[in-house]
Amino acid sequence: MNDLPRLGQWSTPDELEALQDKQLPHLLGWAAGSPFYAARLGPALASMRTRTDLESIEPTSKQDLRDAYPFGLLAVEKEELATYHESSGTAGSPTASFYTAKDWVDLAERYARKWVGINASDVFLVRTPYALMITGHLAHAAARLHGATVVPGDNRSLAMPYSRVVRVLHDLGVTLSWSMPTETLMWAAAARAVGYQPGRDFPALRALFVGGEPLSPTRRRRISELWGVPVVEEYGSTETGSLAGECSRQQLHLWADRAIFEVYDPRTGTIGPEGSGQLVVTPLYREAMPLLRYNLGDDVEVSYADCECGWALPTVRVLGRAGFGYPVGGVTVTQNRLEELVFSLPLEHEVIFWRARAEPSRLVVEIEVPESRRVAACADLGRAISAEFGIDAVITGVGPGTLVPTEVLTGVHDVVKPRSLFGPDEDWNKGLLYY
Ligand SMILES: [Zn+2]
Repeated sequence: MNDLPRLGQWSTPDELEALQDKQLPHLLGWAAGSPFYAARLGPALASMRTRTDLESIEPTSKQDLRDAYPFGLLAVEKEELATYHESSGTAGSPTASFYTAKDWVDLAERYARKWVGINASDVFLVRTPYALMITGHLAHAAARLHGATVVPGDNRSLAMPYSRVVRVLHDLGVTLSWSMPTETLMWAAAARAVGYQPGRDFPALRALFVGGEPLSPTRRRRISELWGVPVVEEYGSTETGSLAGECSRQQLHLWADRAIFEVYDPRTGTIGPEGSGQLVVTPLYREAMPLLRYNLGDDVEVSYADCECGWALPTVRVLGRAGFGYPVGGVTVTQNRLEELVFSLPLEHEVIFWRARAEPSRLVVEIEVPESRRVAACADLGRAISAEFGIDAVITGVGPGTLVPTEVLTGVHDVVKPRSLFGPDEDWNKGLLYY
């Protein structure tokens, strides 16, 4: 394998392309070991070397990955493997992802590239799942690579309720964290529930790394205001690892020295280097499970416009499910726009949890808000919704602890171990079903 490219090693699109072209024959060689690509491309695969060859290949779909489960895309001997992962949200039809130890060097480096670096003095809270998905392991490996102290705080584990998250954030002086954006709002509420102020009582914290969920600019700003630190976005998938990270100018850049990115336009059926459509990725340093033109299905906008940060990498806007919405009174109400309006309310209203139901002729909204702010917050949001959508909205302010119960924020689960012998007054139902 060639040495992995480093940021700063190229300064023009041509130099970047040359780096990609140099690695392509290696990747196509690895792909020859993949039963899936051997079957799909036949003997022609053995002589493929160039970008033109790559561009002759039909994109690989998520369905292809499902059909190839479990070992159809595995291109190395099992002895060489380091980890196995599956994507979330594919109930009943798993998508297998394999990585070797070498693959992991590329994965960990890509994740760590954000403009807020990771270093040995960092205490890094990983608060995404460790089970099957790659996300927790990715942040964990990146933090270890840079010498940071990892606090593994899996958000799906009963052993790590919000009360413990707040405790480690505070007592250990966590400097960096990795989670979905919504998690950071839960921590803020959990911190307040035990008397801490998020922006005051966590002085060691220097940035919140977030991903895995749509995030409007307004919600992002609010999270940053609440905690008094930058919110740094990341974009990737379990099948590919990190695909883009944020630069000092808050642009999301694609790691185009480590993968070839293309955009598929479903309206025309064409694939080009930039513009709007679905992101198609060819990871260049992936030996365990090479993917050639993998269509992630995410709606994106890719641009090669210059960015002042100097990385000389294309930028991406991930639209994801931003367009997701429901009709109300003849207009489409999207979660993204509603989120913008809720998080545009003044900070003093302390509104961070909300929910809405789209009915045919009206929108029903609930916000959690302290009593002293209730009337003003509901009136402000009602005006904003009316101005934005011109529809009827019923806004109800509910007390803190209604949408997110206080016990969820402050409770500690009774995590015990399996046992079979109990005393006369003990609950023996907790024997084998100990969780
Ligand atoms: Zn930039």
